[in-house]
Amino acid sequence: MTITSRPDADQGTFERLAVRGGSYVAGQWLTSSEEPLLAVHDPADGQLVTELPSAGAALTTAAVEAAAAAYPAWSALSAAERGVPLRRAHELLVERADELALVMTREQGKPLAEARSEVLWGAEYLLWYAEEIRRSQGVTVPGDGPGQRIEVRRRPRGVVACITPWNFPSAMLLRKLAPALAAGNTVVAKPAEQTPLSAIKIFEVLEDAGLPAGVANLVCGDPVVVGDALCGAPQVRHISFTGSTEVGRMLLARGAAQLKKVTVELGGVAPFIVFADADLELAVERLMAAKYANAGQSCVAPNRLLVQDEAAAEFTERLCARVSSLQVGRGTNEGTDVGPLIESAAVDKVRRHLADALAGGGRVLAGGTPPAGLDEGRFFTPTVVTDVARDALVLREETFGPLLPLEQFTDEPAALAAANASDSGLGAYVFTRDLGRTHRVAEALEYGMVAVNDASFGYVQAPFGGIKHSGDGREGGQDGLREYQDLQYLNINF
Ligand code: NAP
Repeated sequence: MTITSRPDADQGTFERLAVRGGSYVAGQWLTSSEEPLLAVHDPADGQLVTELPSAGAALTTAAVEAAAAAYPAWSALSAAERGVPLRRAHELLVERADELALVMTREQGKPLAEARSEVLWGAEYLLWYAEEIRRSQGVTVPGDGPGQRIEVRRRPRGVVACITPWNFPSAMLLRKLAPALAAGNTVVAKPAEQTPLSAIKIFEVLEDAGLPAGVANLVCGDPVVVGDALCGAPQVRHISFTGSTEVGRMLLARGAAQLKKVTVELGGVAPFIVFADADLELAVERLMAAKYANAGQSCVAPNRLLVQDEAAAEFTERLCARVSSLQVGRGTNEGTDVGPLIESAAVDKVRRHLADALAGGGRVLAGGTPPAGLDEGRFFTPTVVTDVARDALVLREETFGPLLPLEQFTDEPAALAAANASDSGLGAYVFTRDLGRTHRVAEALEYGMVAVNDASFGYVQAPFGGIKHSGDGREGGQDGLREYQDLQYLNINF
């Protein structure tokens, strides 16, 4: 199948994007289907990028069966043998990073440089887990007598369903595929409807890297149809989901009913706390990247900015200067810092949060105007507001856009009370130069991840994940591998 891009004067960097088909099952690409086609739109202008053959229940079931059939041989390979195609896939992703970045920007909207970084970041999981599985160790526990040994070993689980969101279409998928496959599981992946092309490109890479047919399968289609088939399949032992808390809660319930393992990586309402003793320039620098990259559409994007009274004036001035200088535009344009939001409903939500904040007494410090020369139904000007009411939507809900409320606080207890007043518990940020405060505050924060004087969590070697309503389970690091392994304990008597 060939995807022909719309000729466009202000992007002009590519002529054609080619993908091999829609879904990938048992080593075959789906090139036509009786299901309604899956339309992919460019978030920058709503234009149709392509239509793909889409998977329905029958193809999803076939994908599960293919994964189940491939499992015995794949899981029987040594860790080193499984690492071979995974390392090759890493190499190919690095080689094709520019191509994949362009595909991602067309379907998701983020600036090309960010898309490229994401491809490379995601690729790193393949390399890391290809090695880490070789260090996956069990333990031997003393038995009760001379003729008893107790051994605890880790082993793969079986077929894993990976369901991923549109905001990081490449990295969220690779962060699941790499540990699941390295551990010896086989996979059926379902990407978000808005961003199937990035997933297809990754599966092309897996095919070219020599991953055996059936080990990793891809189904692009209607979420309810595909989701029902995955949840209902007895061969699926594990559902690994990244996305909204609402869908995660539903999948947890469905998985529980069938006693499937369910990993849920969900939304966040991240606090970003700046104490007066902090390096304010560093704090602004890191905040800009954490909040405005991906147009604020990140689960760990700061959703509430808390600045200590004494630092508020200087911090606000520095922050607003930086926010006002951001270039909003198409992700394919040189110099774009902030691209479009994924769809008009996402812009509507950010607008609703802004209107609610202003109605409750809030004031705009930066931005707040429609994006000049751009479709205001697709783009949102990076904005900072303050004096927002305590019950404002922007403080309580995940905004998922480039709107940031700035609140002031007096002291540590006040900052902690504000930061912990949330059902979410994914990422939190603290800026301070005080070592004692670092420990007191970080340990008191009810969050699965806390960054101190930094604003990044996406390290392959670290266990990304949240608590409370932000999820259950970890991705990355040793814990991310164990997520895809079952324990078996052997009681051996001789
Ligand atoms: P979403 O609407 O929950 O969708 C996520 C995935 O679930 C998509 O593939 C979606 O498919 C699928 N899905 C929807 N309904 C389903 C159903 N009934 N059965 C099975 N699958 C179903 O979330 P999103 O809007 O794509 O992503 C944004 C959310 O993800 C935000 O809340 C963000 O914070 C969260 N997120 C969390 C992390 C983390 O690591 N904690 C990372 C990134 C994003 P369709 O797209 O086809 O509907």
